[in-house]
Amino acid sequence: MDLKTVDAGLLQSRYRLTKQRAAVLRALGDGGHLSAETILEKVRAELPTVSLGTIYRTLDILRAIGLVQVFSFGGSAARYEASLDKHHHLLCSTCRALENVQADGVGEIAAQIAAAKGFSDIDYGLTIVGRCESCGRKPGKNGAS
Ligand SMILES: [Zn+2]
Ligand SMILES: [Zn+2]
Repeated sequence: MDLKTVDAGLLQSRYRLTKQRAAVLRALGDGGHLSAETILEKVRAELPTVSLGTIYRTLDILRAIGLVQVFSFGGSAARYEASLDKHHHLLCSTCRALENVQADGVGEIAAQIAAAKGFSDIDYGLTIVGRCESCGRKPGKNGAS
């Protein structure tokens, strides 16, 4: 993620870019989908005294600003990413790899279904579960791991 965009986003929302927030955004900077524990490990390399509670609070603030999105599927631990755009996911059932994908038309379908039931302020996300290319090539595995 472009740090200039991040700074602009934080200025717009009048939130200060605190050390913790900057460190969390840097941890997420390579575009991965990380658990709070993994983010904690990375942030501790910069700020050794940071606690998991601080990481969760920081992630909540960054989500409220719209700089961080959370992904969770089927009761698995939440994974966070620094992404500003609406997107959907391909999830590998074997190695848990998570890939961002665009899915044109999903928003329209979601809006139609919601409107038919009188829902407003909707959110939606498409998750396609399967085996990724590299797991699919390995013989003798049926995706259960
Ligand atoms: Zn895989
Ligand atoms: Zn994602």
